[in-house]
Amino acid sequence: FANMTDLVRAHASERPDKPAIFCGEDSLSYAELDRAVDRVAAALQRDGGRVGTVVAILGANSIAHVLVFLGALRAGCVPAPLATSATADQLAGMVCDSAAPIIFIDPDYEALALPTRKVRLDRLACWLAPEGALPQPVSVTAQHPFNLIYSSGTTGTPKGVVQPHAMRWFHIARAPAGFDRAVTLVATPLYSNTTLVSILPTLGWGGTVVLMRRFDPRAFLIEAERHRATVTMLVPVQYQRIMALPDFDSFDLSSFQLKTCSSAPFSAALKADILARWPGLLVEYYGMTEGGGTTILVCNAHPGKLATVGTPLPGHDIRIIGEDDRELPCGGIGEVVGRSPAMMSGYHGRDEVTDEASWSDAHGSRYIRHGDIGRFDADGFLTLIDRKKDLIISGGFNVYPSDLEAALLLHPGVEDCAVIGVPSEQWGEAPAGFFVGRADPSELLAWLNARMGKTQRLADLRLIDEIPRNAIGKILKRELRARYIA
Ligand code: ATP
Ligand code: MG
Repeated sequence: FANMTDLVRAHASERPDKPAIFCGEDSLSYAELDRAVDRVAAALQRDGGRVGTVVAILGANSIAHVLVFLGALRAGCVPAPLATSATADQLAGMVCDSAAPIIFIDPDYEALALPTRKVRLDRLACWLAPEGALPQPVSVTAQHPFNLIYSSGTTGTPKGVVQPHAMRWFHIARAPAGFDRAVTLVATPLYSNTTLVSILPTLGWGGTVVLMRRFDPRAFLIEAERHRATVTMLVPVQYQRIMALPDFDSFDLSSFQLKTCSSAPFSAALKADILARWPGLLVEYYGMTEGGGTTILVCNAHPGKLATVGTPLPGHDIRIIGEDDRELPCGGIGEVVGRSPAMMSGYHGRDEVTDEASWSDAHGSRYIRHGDIGRFDADGFLTLIDRKKDLIISGGFNVYPSDLEAALLLHPGVEDCAVIGVPSEQWGEAPAGFFVGRADPSELLAWLNARMGKTQRLADLRLIDEIPRNAIGKILKRELRARYIA
């Protein structure tokens, strides 16, 4: 069974001088990348890294970060990139949970109390094995862990998702034809699954990665022009910020062939704006770090379906189940469950959570519960309605925060908003809103409630400076709940 880094080695011998990665003014050719990956792998083995050893990484986007990730893979170790946006407690929790004996960090994390040996990414050269060092070859199976990724923690504590080699091979294999010529502009953090799903296929096929240290909308467009980028994968807030630049139309983006989006709700209006003003295909994916089932929407081909997340990828089986765990007929609204060739092995060290997240059909096939509520239309397109944990049950009726958020956004004085469930004496639970904008809160509350059904009416509406989001743009409703009670 081949290791993904064997592909990098093959490109290094066929096209040694081809650029593999750019990051700011730094770059590596495939030959340089391959040699550096050997030196990381050899150093990890020297320090006791064996097949299955977890290697944690905590750093902003950099070439060193990519080298440690690939070097760990080549040594048979399991890279675990951790979210730089996580709190100190969450990070300590993830490091303990992963049992990594070593962590590679940016200098800012030097003072963080972690129960493991730290190596600074900016001093990687001092730690590397000498030039020319080769690691011991290792063999892994398709079910062997490829990497450990902590889920975004949007709905609770981040869960360690063990992704096997088979899952990553599936991501590499599904890349469109011509990926060997891709110039992939990466502006999302390396610890997110979204990013790995674009970087690994690019390097696997021998394309070029242009890695941004951090996202900035104008810097993104400048990098895109400079490198004639052909592919990018961004999250919705990034698209929003790019499209909002007053001089967006003055950039030459004709090199783009494929732009993808995933991770969070992507509004139909934003998709339409991108289709109108940014050349190339626009493809939305809906999926989760755990795998389950993934859908795809090729926006250019289905302009009438922009409010959906598309149809299941080939080989991905997605069903909708009701409160009683029984499958619903087409058109029913319920929880999304999915299975596919690209599934996690399970949550790291948490078999009971893996079991809770599973659903079995009548034949005993195992599906993963996505935790999202959705419905399929008669054409087989999936519309997402909300996260199951965000559903509000008010007076016995299901109230979807997304309905109220969409209604609030229709008001010209609302720029951004979020609705959560709060305890209510009358209804058990009732919706409460937060918004950013220019409207007067009590007038807006009256305006909205006049348009809503009795159980949907907001009990409260507050003006705030910013809706809390994590680094990849997901609204942190648990922070809003904590703020509401405080
Ligand atoms: P946690 O499971 O720790 O609470 P998370 O579910 O946000 O965090 P991820 O695996 O990163 O962690 O995200 C998967 C979720 O992201 C999906 O379940 C869905 O809610 C949301 N999502 C992904 N793609 C899309 C999309 N195209 N449109 C809307 N939501 C999406
Ligand atoms: Mg999740």
